[in-house]
Amino acid sequence: MAIERQSFISKLTKVFGENGFSKLLSLEISEKFLALTERMLEENEKYNLTAITDVDKIILNHYADCAALAVRLPKDAKIADIGCGAGFPTLPVAILRPDVHIFAVDSTAKRIGYVNETARLLGIENVEAVAMRAEDGGKNPLYRDKFDVVTARAVAEMRVLSELCLPYVRVGGQFMAMKGKNAEFELQGAKRAISTLGGRDVKVEQISLRGADEELTHPLIIVTKKERTPANYPRPYAQICKKPL
Ligand code: SAM
Repeated sequence: MAIERQSFISKLTKVFGENGFSKLLSLEISEKFLALTERMLEENEKYNLTAITDVDKIILNHYADCAALAVRLPKDAKIADIGCGAGFPTLPVAILRPDVHIFAVDSTAKRIGYVNETARLLGIENVEAVAMRAEDGGKNPLYRDKFDVVTARAVAEMRVLSELCLPYVRVGGQFMAMKGKNAEFELQGAKRAISTLGGRDVKVEQISLRGADEELTHPLIIVTKKERTPANYPRPYAQICKKPL
């Protein structure tokens, strides 16, 4: 699907500029976002990748939203993105932050195939996407306690999400959950789960973004891992959901 190049780049530049992300953009990066948008919209019918198909909304809800995460990541961080779906925040963050490496996980093999193929076609070299259940990876010594930052956007409620994500975080690393409006309420119920899994120092930062003709506000929950996750977590998924911590 062809999108008018100049108009796309102007819109992206304007929204990134208004939200303080200009330093992340270059012409080469803008061209990658154009290619990503064209590919995502082309493949959308096949894989059901995004409900958002309007370019202005894609720039705000997908790209600027992921840029708000990208500016918060430490240099050269080793990141795991849990439940990456069609590659969010994985692909925009990988484009904006070539210094980080992202290990992306989703249980849907088709979407993982799309993410890997998109990375290959766009020349994004800092992404590796793997189809597996998050709770299986969290038990695997290859991935457990290994990541500086673990991210997740729109995957599960906070008690469940914490059990899926915190096992991947190294002690001293962070879990960053991009959440919807009722995050504060979810967080109150998840404090015990976070602490049981080794998390402490929970912070909530409001992400507030301006797009072409709408605004986007939602919380980002940041948890620092202070202790290793006990060996009995994560539990099988049915148990995580039936009896959340
Ligand atoms: N993060 C993406 C985004 O923001 O657009 C996708 C969000 S989508 C609503 C949730 C994704 O989480 C789905 O692709 C689903 O397959 C994945 N998911 C949910 N539970 C999972 C689990 N236990 N292990 C792996 N992936 C999971």
